[in-house]
Amino acid sequence: MSPFLDLPPLSAAQFAAIEDKVAALLHTTADVIITQGEALLPLEAAIRGAAHPGSTALNIVTGPYGQTFGNWLRGCGAEVVDLVVPFDGAAGAEQVARVLAVEPGIDFVSLVHAEAATGNTNPVAEIAAVVREHGALLMLDAVASVAAEPLLTDEWGVDLCVIGGQKAMGGPAGVSAVSVSDRAWERIAANPAAPRRSYLSLLDWKERWTDAGRTALPHAPAQLEMLALDACLDRIAADTLDATIARHRAAAAATRAGVRALGTLTPYVHRDEHAAPVATTLRTPSGLHAAELAGRLDPALPVQAGGGPLAAEMLRVNHYGTAAALDTVQSVLTALAAALPGTDADRAAEAAAAAWSAAVATS
Ligand SMILES: *Cc1c(COP(=O)(O)O)cnc(C)c1O
Repeated sequence: MSPFLDLPPLSAAQFAAIEDKVAALLHTTADVIITQGEALLPLEAAIRGAAHPGSTALNIVTGPYGQTFGNWLRGCGAEVVDLVVPFDGAAGAEQVARVLAVEPGIDFVSLVHAEAATGNTNPVAEIAAVVREHGALLMLDAVASVAAEPLLTDEWGVDLCVIGGQKAMGGPAGVSAVSVSDRAWERIAANPAAPRRSYLSLLDWKERWTDAGRTALPHAPAQLEMLALDACLDRIAADTLDATIARHRAAAAATRAGVRALGTLTPYVHRDEHAAPVATTLRTPSGLHAAELAGRLDPALPVQAGGGPLAAEMLRVNHYGTAAALDTVQSVLTALAAALPGTDADRAAEAAAAAWSAAVATS
């Protein structure tokens, strides 16, 4: 008797209620569309909905996803200005303001909030303020920040905010969501190149679902993923969002402090305020290949080498979801100490515990 089989179909009312819970999590009163696929689906849908020949986009690249967004934007015929920031830091609002000042035609900005792959996070409130003043639409990839750090969609002026369930929310992969502001709907509706009668069409969802009163679902929803998303939203509400965020912050602080006490490895992201709460990236010294080191660790630990060219020099500790816990951080530090001669496991454990307590106390 599998609990995953023979379920009654998910009703429109259930689907709408889950959308409303996501809206509350994002602190938005805008429409939220839940998309039946991984988070790249709403990210691509948002870009294809807003971009077109004749538009100019500012693509802020602080990790690997920015590259993907730039390719989609160019594929839509938009002019693209890439602002590439070193992956060991963060984009700054002044930098963004300078680009906007010399490129007055920019009408769309894509930004990643936290970068799970490179371990940095960007000051969205400040960047969004200059984007709003310029009058451009802002698309935010908040897949790795939702539930790990504050995400104030409406207060910040984020027009298209994309999330997925599988990172800090501790929920399912394969279902995702995007909030769409009124300004964004106007722009997408006015875009003749925006997808229609397409799996990538946000307008289809607006017409057939949102504007139709959310009483009849246009497609059979991915039922297991929706139920899992609902359960993880309820768990975050029960634990409280603040406590979930605090746990992720503490995991990052503990990992950084523990690694500093351990020696040999250094936090890849230099400044604590630029470090993402969802994952901590570490730099290996020259002569120590990160993928080789990762290969010597217990595969059950949430540690992997950086992607692509970063595999030589970057180790990534994924402390999100249930892994945002002191005992997970301690297990990673213990394993690293055992793999790295001359490092002091006890000192690292003490530093991590102290940083965890301090971070929780100030949340
Ligand atoms: C994980 C992640 C994604 C991709 O999410 P999928 O659901 O795997 O498509 C996109 N952006 C960021 C910042 C991520 O961390």
